[in-house]
Amino acid sequence: MPSEPLAPGRVRVVDLSHPVGPSTQVFPGDTPPVVSPACSLAADGYNSVRLDLGSHTGTHADAPYHFLEDGLRLGDLPLDRFTGTAVVVDATGLAPRTAIGPEAFTPWEGRLAPGAVVLVRTGWDRHYGTEDYFHHPYLSGEAARMLVERGVRTVGLDTLSPDETPYAEYEADDWSAHLAILGAGGTVIENLRGLGTAEVQGARFCAFPLRLESGDGAPVRAVALVSDE
Ligand SMILES: [Zn+2]
Repeated sequence: MPSEPLAPGRVRVVDLSHPVGPSTQVFPGDTPPVVSPACSLAADGYNSVRLDLGSHTGTHADAPYHFLEDGLRLGDLPLDRFTGTAVVVDATGLAPRTAIGPEAFTPWEGRLAPGAVVLVRTGWDRHYGTEDYFHHPYLSGEAARMLVERGVRTVGLDTLSPDETPYAEYEADDWSAHLAILGAGGTVIENLRGLGTAEVQGARFCAFPLRLESGDGAPVRAVALVSDE
């Protein structure tokens, strides 16, 4: 459906996030969020809930401290890491657990630069909520290092992880993509959805996490801000 033209100065906000709740699909071994009532309109005059959730729940950002003892914590990462021009890289049509190498980025080569947010679209968000979601394609260490060498510090994916996810008989324990990006003081945005929306390409991407003082990661509301200008 074609979108309505925007008035000057207005933006269209495209949501690229999964909902957070008891049915949120989490990394193997992690626990799904628990949302329990704390105060209610009837008893207290207002509603509020208690949230019990892992720092890597749903659509979220990783801080370097997630993998590196001396890495920056979430609250210390410069905020410009969480916004930039979206460069959507089409990596759809791959078989489960396929490594995405540097050659997949060749068509977008000219746009891989500081300030870009590289969004790797595998199309795996269509499997969200099923076992197939664990068997996503992943970024090779070589590809992640190439992005970092070009000055990219923000990489997002529509998968659980930039690296292969250990699940069932797959004992994956290679964290090369995480280590390359986080090791350069960057961030990885995981569990994005809807990267196939045409207007995301070239739009301003934003995914700001909570300012957790010693955080290794936190949920984000990832969006693309589309303008007609
Ligand atoms: Zn994470």
